[in-house]
Amino acid sequence: MNRLNFPIALFIALGACNSIPPEFTKEQLSEYQNPSVQTRVKIDAQFPAALQFFEKTQEAALKLGRSLTQAEITDAKAVGVTHPEKIRIYVTGNFPIFTDPVTGKKDNQSRAGAMAMGYGIFIKPKYSSARWVKAHEFVHVRQFETLGPKDMIRQVLLEKQVFSNNLIPTEREAIEVSEAYIGKSAPKYAY
Ligand SMILES: [Zn+2]
Repeated sequence: MNRLNFPIALFIALGACNSIPPEFTKEQLSEYQNPSVQTRVKIDAQFPAALQFFEKTQEAALKLGRSLTQAEITDAKAVGVTHPEKIRIYVTGNFPIFTDPVTGKKDNQSRAGAMAMGYGIFIKPKYSSARWVKAHEFVHVRQFETLGPKDMIRQVLLEKQVFSNNLIPTEREAIEVSEAYIGKSAPKYAY
């Protein structure tokens, strides 16, 4: 499965496949710490479209979404979000789809349950009441807060390239932090 390897869309993919992702290789970790020129060039090529996609989709969620309940604010703070009052949750069956400007490939998000774009969180109706899904997305919000959107987008683009066909570090962190807080309530994760 390769459901999480989307250029910038961060989300939970739910599947019946293997829940334990493979270890990263030494070569991958080395490339991650010190990306090659080839990798940097590819990220630079993807970045403008990825940023534009981010801005457009975050704006839509902020405009159409609802603010958090008190209980959700507590959860968001617990996983490290500084400004939970800025978050909006937009429940929709139609997620925006990103097209990679380099490969021309469209993301297949049919299995995505939720997706965080800065302070904008998209959630499918099926998962709108799932506390663990929201806690997971709040970790992504915290990641966006920590790095800032531009560096976060670059970070994810790098992770997708280096760890293709695997669960990327940004996702691993979101799973670990949210499960440490909520408990292991999530179904198996695809990667
Ligand atoms: Zn995620």
